[in-house]
Amino acid sequence: MKWMERKLEDIFKALKTNRENGLSSKQAAEVLQQKGYNEFEEEKKEGIGAKLLHQFSEVTTIILLVAALISTYLAVTEGHGYAEPLVIIAIVALNAVLGIRQELSAEKALDALKNMNTPAAKVVRDGILQPINSKELVPGDIIMVEAGDMIPADARLIESSNLLVEESALTGESVPSEKNAQAEVKESDPLGDRVNMLFSGCLVTNGRGRAVVVATGMETEMGKIASLLNNTKKSKTPLQQRLIELGKKLSLVAVVSGVIIFGIGLLHGETIMEMLMTAVSLAVAAVPETLPVIVTVTLAFGIQNMVRKNAIIRRIPAVEALGSASVICSDKTGTLTQNQMTIKQVWAVSHEPKADTEAFNDTETELLTMFSLASNASIELNNGEETIIGDPTETAIIRLLHQKGTKKSELEAKYPRVHELPFDSSRKLMTTVHRTEDGYISITKGAFDRIPLDPHASCTNEYQARANEVHDQFAEQALRVLALGYKHYGELPEQLDAAELEQGLRFAGLVGMIDPPRPESKAAVQAAMDAGIKTVMITGDHMATASAIAREIGILKEGDLAISGAELERMSDVELKQKVRHISVYGRVSPEDKIRIVQAWQANGEVVAMTGDGVNDAPALKAADVGTAMGITGTDVAKSASDMVLTDDNFATIVDAVAEGRRVYENIRKTLYFLLSCNFSEIMIMIIAVAFGWGLPVIAIQLLLINVVADGIPGFCLSREKMEPDTMRQKPISKNAGIFSNGLGKKIALQASLYTVLTLLGFYVGKFVHISDQVSTSHEVGQTMAFVILGWSSVVHIFNVRSNTQSIFTIGFMSNRSLFWCAMLSIAIIFGIAIIPTLMEIFQIVSLSFTHWVIVTILSIVPLIVVELAKLSTRKKLRAQGQSI
Ligand code: ADP
Ligand code: MG
Repeated sequence: MKWMERKLEDIFKALKTNRENGLSSKQAAEVLQQKGYNEFEEEKKEGIGAKLLHQFSEVTTIILLVAALISTYLAVTEGHGYAEPLVIIAIVALNAVLGIRQELSAEKALDALKNMNTPAAKVVRDGILQPINSKELVPGDIIMVEAGDMIPADARLIESSNLLVEESALTGESVPSEKNAQAEVKESDPLGDRVNMLFSGCLVTNGRGRAVVVATGMETEMGKIASLLNNTKKSKTPLQQRLIELGKKLSLVAVVSGVIIFGIGLLHGETIMEMLMTAVSLAVAAVPETLPVIVTVTLAFGIQNMVRKNAIIRRIPAVEALGSASVICSDKTGTLTQNQMTIKQVWAVSHEPKADTEAFNDTETELLTMFSLASNASIELNNGEETIIGDPTETAIIRLLHQKGTKKSELEAKYPRVHELPFDSSRKLMTTVHRTEDGYISITKGAFDRIPLDPHASCTNEYQARANEVHDQFAEQALRVLALGYKHYGELPEQLDAAELEQGLRFAGLVGMIDPPRPESKAAVQAAMDAGIKTVMITGDHMATASAIAREIGILKEGDLAISGAELERMSDVELKQKVRHISVYGRVSPEDKIRIVQAWQANGEVVAMTGDGVNDAPALKAADVGTAMGITGTDVAKSASDMVLTDDNFATIVDAVAEGRRVYENIRKTLYFLLSCNFSEIMIMIIAVAFGWGLPVIAIQLLLINVVADGIPGFCLSREKMEPDTMRQKPISKNAGIFSNGLGKKIALQASLYTVLTLLGFYVGKFVHISDQVSTSHEVGQTMAFVILGWSSVVHIFNVRSNTQSIFTIGFMSNRSLFWCAMLSIAIIFGIAIIPTLMEIFQIVSLSFTHWVIVTILSIVPLIVVELAKLSTRKKLRAQGQSI
């Protein structure tokens, strides 16, 4: 269509739109019908069939199927019956179904996240500028973009001012390219040179523009390559990668033990086929097949929980990084505070400071008028309801103006605005130019120490010292201070830029506004501290204001440092690295300084969460381990650079997310504890029994069943386990800590040994110990006892695993309801197999006497008793160390 070459008027005609008024909503609806939503086609999901295939290409599944083949062969040649091969196949199927079902629900949870991230587009429809969901954009729509926005569709520029767009997603070029509505562009020019076009998915880093949408959805340049993007592999978290490594090692262990069993069995005169079967099943049983799925489910469930607590995870590995976060660098305004500014004090030069509630004299009214003229915010009353547009600092000004009985629209009509230099957090100034009766006035408002005054103006000198005093007095009351300077012009100067307008100003006065801390901030800072996490405040506000608030919420303590952006600049990276641990507050910083703070902490080996909202925050968000963007005030640029988005902009939410991250990590370790204890004991039981020449204590299909029923079914429920009471009272998990650190490896070894002893004991009693003439003993009785003990005790063990230190009787069986019922189901299934004749036949189980049932039951409960006693002594020890448990 050569949109870049055609005349604008042609384009408007072709798309039946209007430069000023855009499309009508009716037109837009029609085009939407025709063109469809402005979105990329979803990545083709792995269908159920593909998932099944996936499952069946797993090594473990293949080995199982080989086992089924051997078993079929035995059935045919030796008349073993077809039950065994059928059961093996059934177990493979059950395992696959369980796995796929869990995977699907995890996928669904993650999909829901994507929909939460669709940005809004600013579009002119029916002549009114309005935000709409960018999904609903159509060709012909007139859109506005400004610094911080993600471009919602491909569009041809109509107007542009200082527009810079970062197009690396499309062109690979990371330096933003300058856009120009007037430039002539040819179709033969590469994408990167088509400077009169905007491309969907790219980020505006500076300036603003107005453009007409020419392509949406899959027709955009990004859409054309979207199919390529879809092919990128889903990245695994570091922990998942380590678990995959672990899985490989375990497979090796399993194969080696299979070979050992095979060898020993042959020496003891078992048949080759029988031993082959056993070796193969053992190899399979020893590998915790369910582990990867459980980990995925645990992560997905954690992410779902975080959404509920207002944190949206954009990159899954961030969940883990959150769990080990040791420093949170947070913005002050809006994150630690409410961002609800109210002017409390006004000081017009030549008078005394006045509270907002007192009556204003002329100079004060004039000051307020100038502040209002230099603000973009508006408060409109619509049917008794207030519509507030704009940033809270300016809203505070307009509110006071209204309270004093003047309307902003009246002022604007009287002194029409002819130019604006927008506020930016690096300059900390904003300037507007207005027409007056006798010429022009340029008004600059901003940080007191950044207002460039005219050194020759008499009022400046006279009040300079007093101004400093008043400023400090305001700031120490935790007030954000805004200063105002102005300049008259007879005629409009040629260059309306900062160099001309923002210099040599006459000073008019100050306002001080309060921005109360969020009520939850103080507790959240304390909670972070208890969890060994340091909170650092970063703000553009003056040091005195920042320190006052930091002290109030417990960030700035005795001995901590508060430094300014200027001091930060004077420090070398080495010096900053040495001092960074002691600095709690950074005042008057620019977003560009944040990246140095992140890197200094990281150089000390810390895991850093950093918040940000503006365009200039993006580099720091990318550098941080958990880059956190504001959902409400954040720009699209900040969001797309982030790992996590806070939907409520609240500091406390970060701390909640950290807790959730820790819970996830903890539950993955619990799952390991649970699954590996049982798997290792299976290996030991088989090797020891066969070595002693006792024959096989459990046969292949019994092992397989235990793996699925006693481990798989309850194991999934561990993902829902609540956090331990002391989790947020411990130091962060070091990012280099192994999965088995903190005694987990030892616990697994002990537990596995305990199972081994108990199961073999049961087997021995059943096979060899003569109890009375009514109680028969045989190899089959021994096997049955071993089967039930191994199955039951590993189900019972899940109640041990649920808490590291707490007794199950304290946390209560019902505090994880689904886990309780899954465990009961597993116990019932194993019991059912041991008493229902058809099942008994299939699983080669014989009926047990009452005495044997009593023994089996007691032995199965032993792990619970042992672990409860061990926890009791741990709690005693911890209490002796003064910890509250
Ligand atoms: P923060 O990171 O705390 O939001 P900013 O960098 O946005 O800090 O603001 C720093 C300073 O800039 C404030 O203390 C105030 O003096 C000034 N300022 C903030 N907002 C505006 C605005 N809209 N217009 C002019 N000056 C402003
Ligand atoms: Mg700000």
